[in-house]
Amino acid sequence: MDLGLQGRWALVCAASKGLGKGCAKALAAEGVNVVVTARGAEVLEATAAELRALDRSIQVKTVAGDITTPEGRAAALAACSQVDILVNNAGGPPPGDFRDWSREDWIKAVDANMLTPIELIKATVDGMAERGFGRIVNITSGAVKAPIDVLGLSNGARSGLTGFVAGVARQRRLAARNVTINNLLPGVFDTDRIRTTTRAQAQKAGKSEDELITARLASVPAGRLGTPDEFGAICAFLCSAHASYLTGQNILLDGGAFPGTF
Ligand code: NAD
Repeated sequence: MDLGLQGRWALVCAASKGLGKGCAKALAAEGVNVVVTARGAEVLEATAAELRALDRSIQVKTVAGDITTPEGRAAALAACSQVDILVNNAGGPPPGDFRDWSREDWIKAVDANMLTPIELIKATVDGMAERGFGRIVNITSGAVKAPIDVLGLSNGARSGLTGFVAGVARQRRLAARNVTINNLLPGVFDTDRIRTTTRAQAQKAGKSEDELITARLASVPAGRLGTPDEFGAICAFLCSAHASYLTGQNILLDGGAFPGTF
Protein backbone atom coordinates (compact mmCIF):
# COMPACT_ATOMS: atom_id res chain seq x y z
CA MET A 1 0.00 0.00 0.00
CA ASP A 2 1.31 3.45 -0.91
CA LEU A 3 0.92 5.52 2.25
CA GLY A 4 0.77 8.77 0.28
CA LEU A 5 3.51 10.44 2.29
CA GLN A 6 6.24 11.13 -0.28
CA GLY A 7 7.90 14.50 0.21
CA ARG A 8 6.33 15.19 3.62
CA TRP A 9 8.51 16.35 6.53
CA ALA A 10 8.56 14.53 9.85
CA LEU A 11 10.09 15.47 13.18
CA VAL A 12 10.79 12.25 15.05
CA CYS A 13 11.95 12.88 18.62
CA ALA A 14 14.30 10.60 20.56
CA ALA A 15 14.96 8.51 17.47
CA SER A 16 18.57 7.30 17.49
CA LYS A 17 17.46 3.94 18.92
CA GLY A 18 14.47 1.82 19.79
CA LEU A 19 10.88 2.73 19.04
CA GLY A 20 11.63 6.26 17.81
CA LYS A 21 14.16 4.87 15.36
CA GLY A 22 11.62 2.27 14.22
CA CYS A 23 9.19 5.11 13.41
CA ALA A 24 11.86 7.16 11.60
CA LYS A 25 12.85 4.12 9.50
CA ALA A 26 9.28 3.36 8.46
CA LEU A 27 8.64 6.99 7.50
CA ALA A 28 11.94 7.31 5.60
CA ALA A 29 11.12 4.14 3.67
CA GLU A 30 7.90 5.87 2.56
CA GLY A 31 9.83 8.81 1.11
CA VAL A 32 9.33 11.15 4.08
CA ASN A 33 12.09 13.68 4.84
CA VAL A 34 13.00 13.30 8.49
CA VAL A 35 14.54 15.32 11.28
CA VAL A 36 15.69 12.93 13.99
CA THR A 37 16.77 13.95 17.47
CA ALA A 38 18.57 12.27 20.36
CA ARG A 39 20.87 13.33 23.16
CA GLY A 40 24.06 11.69 21.85
CA ALA A 41 25.40 12.80 18.44
CA GLU A 42 27.38 9.68 17.58
CA VAL A 43 24.59 7.07 17.57
CA LEU A 44 22.27 9.65 16.03
CA GLU A 45 24.59 10.14 13.05
CA ALA A 46 24.83 6.37 12.55
CA THR A 47 21.04 6.17 12.58
CA ALA A 48 20.81 9.03 10.07
CA ALA A 49 23.14 7.13 7.74
CA GLU A 50 20.83 4.09 7.96
CA LEU A 51 17.84 6.28 7.15
CA ARG A 52 19.55 7.84 4.12
CA ALA A 53 20.31 4.37 2.80
CA LEU A 54 16.59 3.53 2.84
CA ASP A 55 15.72 6.21 0.28
CA ARG A 56 18.42 8.23 -1.44
CA SER A 57 15.90 10.89 -2.50
CA ILE A 58 14.94 12.01 1.01
CA GLN A 59 16.59 14.58 3.26
CA VAL A 60 17.63 13.45 6.72
CA LYS A 61 18.66 16.01 9.34
CA THR A 62 19.94 15.37 12.84
CA VAL A 63 19.59 17.46 15.96
CA ALA A 64 21.59 16.36 18.99
CA GLY A 65 20.02 17.66 22.18
CA ASP A 66 17.66 16.99 25.04
CA ILE A 67 14.11 17.25 23.71
CA THR A 68 12.79 17.81 27.25
CA THR A 69 14.48 21.23 27.41
CA PRO A 70 13.26 24.44 25.72
CA GLU A 71 16.60 24.68 23.86
CA GLY A 72 16.36 21.09 22.62
CA ARG A 73 12.83 21.64 21.33
CA ALA A 74 13.71 24.96 19.70
CA ALA A 75 16.64 23.37 17.85
CA ALA A 76 14.49 20.45 16.69
CA LEU A 77 11.74 22.75 15.41
CA ALA A 78 14.24 25.06 13.70
CA ALA A 79 15.66 22.12 11.73
CA CYS A 80 12.23 21.14 10.41
CA SER A 81 10.80 24.18 8.66
CA GLN A 82 7.48 22.47 7.97
CA VAL A 83 6.38 19.78 10.40
CA ASP A 84 3.79 17.64 8.61
CA ILE A 85 4.32 14.70 10.94
CA LEU A 86 5.36 14.86 14.59
CA VAL A 87 6.35 11.75 16.51
CA ASN A 88 6.65 12.61 20.18
CA ASN A 89 9.01 10.46 22.18
CA ALA A 90 11.54 10.73 25.03
CA GLY A 91 13.12 8.41 27.53
CA GLY A 92 10.76 7.01 30.16
CA PRO A 93 11.06 7.78 33.88
CA PRO A 94 12.81 5.30 36.18
CA PRO A 95 10.92 2.65 38.17
CA GLY A 96 10.64 2.84 41.93
CA ASP A 97 8.38 3.31 44.94
CA PHE A 98 6.33 6.50 45.09
CA ARG A 99 7.32 6.91 48.75
CA ASP A 100 10.85 7.68 47.57
CA TRP A 101 9.96 10.20 44.87
CA SER A 102 10.43 13.90 45.49
CA ARG A 103 8.60 16.78 43.85
CA GLU A 104 11.69 17.13 41.63
CA ASP A 105 11.31 13.54 40.40
CA TRP A 106 7.68 14.20 39.52
CA ILE A 107 8.45 17.47 37.75
CA LYS A 108 11.10 15.70 35.67
CA ALA A 109 8.69 12.94 34.62
CA VAL A 110 5.86 15.35 33.85
CA ASP A 111 8.26 17.57 31.89
CA ALA A 112 9.55 14.69 29.76
CA ASN A 113 6.45 12.62 29.21
CA MET A 114 3.63 15.16 29.33
CA LEU A 115 4.73 18.77 28.89
CA THR A 116 7.36 18.18 26.19
CA PRO A 117 4.87 16.56 23.78
CA ILE A 118 2.29 19.22 24.64
CA GLU A 119 4.79 22.01 23.84
CA LEU A 120 5.64 20.38 20.51
CA ILE A 121 1.97 19.89 19.66
CA LYS A 122 1.36 23.56 20.48
CA ALA A 123 4.23 24.63 18.22
CA THR A 124 3.12 22.61 15.20
CA VAL A 125 -0.57 21.86 15.19
CA ASP A 126 -1.98 25.14 13.89
CA GLY A 127 0.46 25.19 10.95
CA MET A 128 -0.67 21.66 10.11
CA ALA A 129 -4.31 22.77 10.19
CA GLU A 130 -3.58 25.76 7.93
CA ARG A 131 -1.93 23.45 5.38
CA GLY A 132 -4.73 20.87 5.65
CA PHE A 133 -2.52 17.95 6.65
CA GLY A 134 -0.99 16.91 9.94
CA ARG A 135 -0.25 13.73 11.84
CA ILE A 136 0.87 13.57 15.45
CA VAL A 137 1.75 10.29 17.09
CA ASN A 138 2.73 10.21 20.75
CA ILE A 139 4.66 7.20 21.96
CA THR A 140 3.23 6.57 25.43
CA SER A 141 3.01 3.17 27.12
CA GLY A 142 0.78 0.18 27.70
CA ALA A 143 1.04 1.31 31.35
CA VAL A 144 -1.48 4.05 30.56
CA LYS A 145 -4.12 1.35 30.05
CA ALA A 146 -2.83 -1.24 32.52
CA PRO A 147 -0.74 0.63 35.11
CA ILE A 148 2.46 -0.99 36.32
CA ASP A 149 2.97 -0.30 40.03
CA VAL A 150 6.71 0.42 39.92
CA LEU A 151 6.26 2.75 36.96
CA GLY A 152 4.14 5.25 38.89
CA LEU A 153 5.97 8.25 37.40
CA SER A 154 5.23 6.96 33.91
CA ASN A 155 1.62 5.98 34.72
CA GLY A 156 0.95 9.44 36.08
CA ALA A 157 2.75 11.66 33.58
CA ARG A 158 1.59 9.76 30.50
CA SER A 159 -2.01 9.63 31.72
CA GLY A 160 -1.89 13.43 31.90
CA LEU A 161 -0.76 13.57 28.27
CA THR A 162 -3.44 11.05 27.28
CA GLY A 163 -6.20 13.16 28.84
CA PHE A 164 -4.91 16.29 27.11
CA VAL A 165 -4.70 14.56 23.72
CA ALA A 166 -8.23 13.16 24.08
CA GLY A 167 -9.53 16.72 24.24
CA VAL A 168 -7.36 18.49 21.70
CA ALA A 169 -7.61 15.78 19.01
CA ARG A 170 -11.36 16.39 18.94
CA GLN A 171 -11.14 20.11 18.25
CA ARG A 172 -13.06 20.67 15.03
CA ARG A 173 -10.47 23.21 13.86
CA LEU A 174 -7.96 20.34 13.81
CA ALA A 175 -9.97 17.20 12.98
CA ALA A 176 -11.86 18.90 10.14
CA ARG A 177 -8.55 20.16 8.71
CA ASN A 178 -7.07 16.66 8.33
CA VAL A 179 -4.95 16.87 11.48
CA THR A 180 -4.96 13.74 13.61
CA ILE A 181 -3.43 13.09 17.02
CA ASN A 182 -3.11 9.55 18.31
CA ASN A 183 -1.15 7.69 20.96
CA LEU A 184 0.73 4.44 20.41
CA LEU A 185 0.98 2.33 23.56
CA PRO A 186 3.88 -0.14 23.48
CA GLY A 187 3.77 -3.34 25.52
CA VAL A 188 7.16 -5.05 25.67
CA PHE A 189 9.47 -4.23 22.76
CA ASP A 190 12.99 -5.40 22.09
CA THR A 191 14.92 -2.17 22.60
CA ASP A 192 17.97 -1.05 24.54
CA ARG A 193 15.73 0.19 27.32
CA ILE A 194 14.15 -3.23 27.84
CA ARG A 195 17.54 -4.96 27.66
CA THR A 196 19.15 -2.54 30.14
CA THR A 197 16.33 -2.68 32.67
CA THR A 198 16.09 -6.48 32.38
CA ARG A 199 19.86 -6.83 32.85
CA ALA A 200 19.74 -4.73 36.02
CA GLN A 201 16.77 -6.71 37.38
CA ALA A 202 18.47 -10.02 36.50
CA GLN A 203 21.65 -9.06 38.36
CA LYS A 204 19.61 -8.03 41.38
CA ALA A 205 17.59 -11.28 41.36
CA GLY A 206 20.60 -13.50 40.60
CA LYS A 207 18.91 -14.75 37.42
CA SER A 208 19.82 -14.64 33.75
CA GLU A 209 18.46 -12.00 31.39
CA ASP A 210 16.79 -14.72 29.30
CA GLU A 211 15.03 -16.16 32.35
CA LEU A 212 13.54 -12.76 33.13
CA ILE A 213 12.46 -12.15 29.53
CA THR A 214 10.81 -15.60 29.43
CA ALA A 215 8.97 -14.84 32.67
CA ARG A 216 7.81 -11.52 31.24
CA LEU A 217 6.59 -13.18 28.07
CA ALA A 218 4.36 -15.56 30.04
CA SER A 219 1.66 -12.89 29.94
CA VAL A 220 2.15 -12.06 26.25
CA PRO A 221 -0.02 -14.28 24.01
CA ALA A 222 2.22 -13.49 21.00
CA GLY A 223 5.01 -15.23 22.97
CA ARG A 224 7.71 -12.78 21.92
CA LEU A 225 8.93 -9.22 22.29
CA GLY A 226 7.68 -6.71 19.75
CA THR A 227 10.17 -5.27 17.29
CA PRO A 228 10.86 -1.56 16.69
CA ASP A 229 10.30 -2.15 12.96
CA GLU A 230 6.75 -3.42 13.45
CA PHE A 231 6.08 -0.55 15.84
CA GLY A 232 7.34 1.85 13.17
CA ALA A 233 5.13 0.30 10.49
CA ILE A 234 2.01 1.01 12.54
CA CYS A 235 3.21 4.54 13.28
CA ALA A 236 3.71 5.12 9.54
CA PHE A 237 0.19 3.87 8.81
CA LEU A 238 -1.25 6.27 11.43
CA CYS A 239 0.64 9.04 9.63
CA SER A 240 -0.57 7.94 6.22
CA ALA A 241 -3.00 9.68 3.89
CA HIS A 242 -5.41 6.79 4.56
CA ALA A 243 -5.69 7.42 8.31
CA SER A 244 -7.32 10.86 8.34
CA TYR A 245 -10.52 9.54 10.00
CA LEU A 246 -8.57 8.00 12.88
CA THR A 247 -7.96 10.51 15.66
CA GLY A 248 -7.91 10.76 19.44
CA GLN A 249 -7.21 7.03 19.80
CA ASN A 250 -4.97 4.99 22.07
CA ILE A 251 -3.58 2.08 20.13
CA LEU A 252 -2.15 -0.72 22.18
CA LEU A 253 0.66 -2.75 20.61
CA ASP A 254 1.27 -5.49 23.13
CA GLY A 255 1.01 -8.88 21.43
CA GLY A 256 -2.38 -9.42 23.13
CA ALA A 257 -1.12 -8.89 26.69
CA PHE A 258 -3.98 -6.63 27.81
CA PRO A 259 -6.70 -9.07 28.86
CA GLY A 260 -9.80 -6.92 28.24
CA THR A 261 -12.33 -7.04 25.40
CA PHE A 262 -11.80 -3.36 24.56
P1 NAD B 1 15.50 3.26 24.01
O1 NAD B 1 16.28 3.49 25.24
O2 NAD B 1 15.74 2.04 23.21
O3 NAD B 1 15.64 4.52 23.03
C1 NAD B 1 15.39 5.79 23.52
C2 NAD B 1 15.81 6.82 22.49
O4 NAD B 1 15.42 8.09 23.00
C3 NAD B 1 17.30 6.91 22.26
O5 NAD B 1 17.50 7.28 20.92
C4 NAD B 1 17.73 8.07 23.18
O6 NAD B 1 18.90 8.72 22.73
C5 NAD B 1 16.53 8.97 23.05
N1 NAD B 1 16.28 9.86 24.17
C6 NAD B 1 16.01 9.50 25.44
N2 NAD B 1 15.77 10.60 26.18
C7 NAD B 1 15.90 11.66 25.34
C8 NAD B 1 15.78 13.06 25.51
N3 NAD B 1 15.50 13.59 26.71
N4 NAD B 1 15.99 13.88 24.45
C9 NAD B 1 16.28 13.35 23.24
N5 NAD B 1 16.40 12.03 23.03
C10 NAD B 1 16.21 11.20 24.07
O7 NAD B 1 13.96 3.35 24.49
P2 NAD B 1 12.63 2.73 23.84
O8 NAD B 1 12.44 1.36 24.39
O9 NAD B 1 12.62 2.95 22.39
O10 NAD B 1 11.51 3.62 24.55
C11 NAD B 1 10.97 4.78 23.96
C12 NAD B 1 9.82 5.25 24.86
O11 NAD B 1 8.81 4.26 24.91
C13 NAD B 1 10.26 5.50 26.30
O12 NAD B 1 9.56 6.61 26.82
C14 NAD B 1 9.82 4.24 27.01
O13 NAD B 1 9.57 4.45 28.37
C15 NAD B 1 8.53 3.93 26.25
N6 NAD B 1 8.16 2.51 26.37
C16 NAD B 1 8.96 1.56 25.86
C17 NAD B 1 8.58 0.22 25.99
C18 NAD B 1 9.43 -0.90 25.42
O14 NAD B 1 9.04 -2.06 25.56
N7 NAD B 1 10.55 -0.65 24.80
C19 NAD B 1 7.38 -0.11 26.64
C20 NAD B 1 6.58 0.91 27.14
C21 NAD B 1 6.98 2.23 27.00
